[in-house]
Amino acid sequence: MRTKEEIKEYSKRWYVKNRDRERQKRREYYKIYWPEKGRIKFWNRLYGLTKEDFDKILKKQNKRCAICGAEKSNETTGGVLSIDHNKSTRKIRGLLCHKCNMGIGCFKDDPLLLLKATKYLLETDGVK
Ligand SMILES: [Zn+2]
Repeated sequence: MRTKEEIKEYSKRWYVKNRDRERQKRREYYKIYWPEKGRIKFWNRLYGLTKEDFDKILKKQNKRCAICGAEKSNETTGGVLSIDHNKSTRKIRGLLCHKCNMGIGCFKDDPLLLLKATKYLLETDGVK
């Protein structure tokens, strides 16, 4: 029988080895099982987002991620832009690619923490 640590290590190695294939599978899954129409319906139930609202935001952002500018149709986004919202006010802020959405989430959607991270990167990379 494997120990908890061995299982954890095995899972980690497996993920690293199969990362690209798994990401591709996830992208395909989302395209098939959670298409834009379904996501808008989901967001409509939760926050009242309509298709018109979504299209308006998409047009305003020129079909690109509001942060990095990745195109909606390219490899980075997998054809999907996430609907980003303020968790406290429930206000929809915009559309982001998966990476940017995860990125700001890792910083707890805290602008000050993100500024500190920016400052840290600028200073430690010698840009300043
Ligand atoms: Zn982005």
